[in-house]
Amino acid sequence: MKIGIDIDGVIADFVGSFLPKLNKYCKCDFKDIIDYDFEKNININISAIQIKKLWQEVEKDKIYKELRLIKGSIESVKKLAKSNTIILITNRRKINQKDTLFWLRRHRIPFAKLVVADNRKEKILEMKKCDIILEDSLEIARILSALSKPVLLFDYPWNRINKNITRIKDWKEALNKVGLYKRRRLIQ
Ligand SMILES: [Mg+2]
Repeated sequence: MKIGIDIDGVIADFVGSFLPKLNKYCKCDFKDIIDYDFEKNININISAIQIKKLWQEVEKDKIYKELRLIKGSIESVKKLAKSNTIILITNRRKINQKDTLFWLRRHRIPFAKLVVADNRKEKILEMKKCDIILEDSLEIARILSALSKPVLLFDYPWNRINKNITRIKDWKEALNKVGLYKRRRLIQ
């Protein structure tokens, strides 16, 4: 089975690593991030210009090389890779491909293919080729669900508006749900 896995919010704790930077401009917490487009967060008082500056800092400071891991991610991806094809698909600028690879190799995360898509359309195009997708972006999950693609959405403050998509709280639940889906597919 081909499993499409997003990186930020699924394997890498991007928001957790980004928060200290955000806190230089405004006082906010993990639970305040209710939209991935940071300037759209009503409870965070930050301008679009400041956000733009922050994104530049992310690249300048090589944050993608230093991201913290989501609990259980490495072990789980390793388990899945034993009997599935892992396609990592991230929505990052192409310029960050080298740092993304560095980070994946440093943590020995197995994958058959890495796609660094600098726009949503490209990301969806790649995810559509997979049998099941693990995501944390509500937008992407919505689009894929509308295309009848099975999506597991890691539950976060920034994706709680929609209740119709299958939500998972951690990697343990992700492995269970992927296993269940695979068995069901084999029976059919
Ligand atoms: Mg993500």
